[in-house]
Amino acid sequence: MYKIETTDLMKKIMGEYFLSLESSKKKIAWCTSVGPAELLRSFGFEVYFPENHGALLGATRTAMDFIPEAIKCGYSGHVCSYTTADIGAYLKKESPLQSHYKMEGIPKPDIIAYNTNQCREVEDWFTFYADEFNCPIVGIQPPRHLDEVTQDEVDLVVKQFKKMIPVCEEVSGVKFDLESFKAVIKLSKEATLLWQKVLKTSIAQNAPLSFFDGTIHMGPIVVLRGTQIAKDYYTTLLAELEEKVKNDEGFLPKATIRIFWEGMPIWGKLRMMSDLFTSNNAAVVASTYCSSWVFDKFDENDPWNSTARAYTEIFINRSEKAKMKMLADWFLEYKIDGIVYHDTKTCFNNSNAKFGMPQRLKDLTGVPSLIIEGDLCDLRFFSEGQSITKVETFIEQLNDSKVFN
Ligand code: SF4
Repeated sequence: MYKIETTDLMKKIMGEYFLSLESSKKKIAWCTSVGPAELLRSFGFEVYFPENHGALLGATRTAMDFIPEAIKCGYSGHVCSYTTADIGAYLKKESPLQSHYKMEGIPKPDIIAYNTNQCREVEDWFTFYADEFNCPIVGIQPPRHLDEVTQDEVDLVVKQFKKMIPVCEEVSGVKFDLESFKAVIKLSKEATLLWQKVLKTSIAQNAPLSFFDGTIHMGPIVVLRGTQIAKDYYTTLLAELEEKVKNDEGFLPKATIRIFWEGMPIWGKLRMMSDLFTSNNAAVVASTYCSSWVFDKFDENDPWNSTARAYTEIFINRSEKAKMKMLADWFLEYKIDGIVYHDTKTCFNNSNAKFGMPQRLKDLTGVPSLIIEGDLCDLRFFSEGQSITKVETFIEQLNDSKVFN
C-alpha cells in the first residue's frame, strides 16, 4: 500500500495552525489565498484564509448544507461556491473546525485583506465580512489577464501594497519594519521553492506525488507560508519524496498514461476521482492548481517589487496566450499524454475550457484533452456516472495515441 509518511506531520501542523488561531493572543488578519500574507505576518498578525475554509466545506461535503443559506440572503447559486458555502456556514454558525478541532468556529478578524489577482469575487465575499464584523478592509486590485507583467504593473501594485501599511499599523499597533517584512519574504520564498521541488518530483517516470496528494499537501504553503513551520514541513516532505524517486517508488507503478489536471479540484470527490484514474492506470502527475502557490520571484533583497510581481504573474491572472505557453511548457516537463479540464460551474475564473483553449492547445502541442463538468464545492453540478464514462473513454483513446513515449 503506497503511503506518504509525512502526511501525519501535515495533519499535525494543520491542526496546530487552526488551534493557534483560537488560542493565540495575536491579532487576526483574514487574507485571500494568493494575497499579501507576508506583509500581514510582518506586523505579527496570525493569518486565516477563508478559501481554505471553503475547501474544507467542500472536502467534508457540508457545503451543500450551507449554500442555500447564502442564496436566501441574495447570493446566486451560480457564483463561487467557496463564497456561498462559507457565508452560509457563517450564517448558520457552523464549521467543520468545530467537529475536527473542537474550535468555537472561525476566528474573528481584526483586519481583512484581499487581492483580486484571482477574481473579483473575493472582494464581494470579504466585504460581506468586513460589514458583518465592522472591520477594516484593504484590497489589492492589480491589472488582470496579462500577457506579460511589466514594471508598470509592478509599480502600480507596489503602491497598493504600501497603502496597506498605515491600516496595518493602526490595527496591529506595530510600526512597519522593513527587516521583519524581508525576513517573512525569505521564509516564504524558501518554502515556496521547496514546494516547487516537491511538485517536480513527479517529473519522475514513477511519480511519487499525484495531483490528488498535492491538494492535501499544499495546505501549509497556503496557510503557513512565511513561517519556519512551512519551510520545515516541505524540507521533510521533499526528503521523503526524493527518497521514493531514488528507490523508483511511485504512487502508480503500472501507469501507462500521464495526465495534467487543469482547474479547481472537485473537493467532495477527490478520493473517487483519484481511484478512477489509478484504476485505469492513469497517473495525474501535475496541475495548474497546485502550482499556483509557487511564487519563485520572491526576493527578500527586493521585497516590494518581487512580492508585487510574484502575486501579479500567477497563472490565473494571465492572458490565454500566457496560460497556453505555461501549459505547453508543463506538458513537456512532465511528459504529459493528456489534459483534463475541470470546467467548474461556479468558478469562471479558474475554468479555461470555455473559450476554445482546449482545441487551440491541442493544435499547438498535440496533447489531447477532456472536459469534465463539475464544481469545487457544489456537487449538484457534478455527475459521477457521466464523468466516469468520459474519463474511461478518454484514457482508452490516450492509450491508442500517446504523444510522448
Ligand atoms: S478563484 Fe474561483 S473559487 Fe477561488 S475565490 Fe475566486 S471565484 Fe471562488
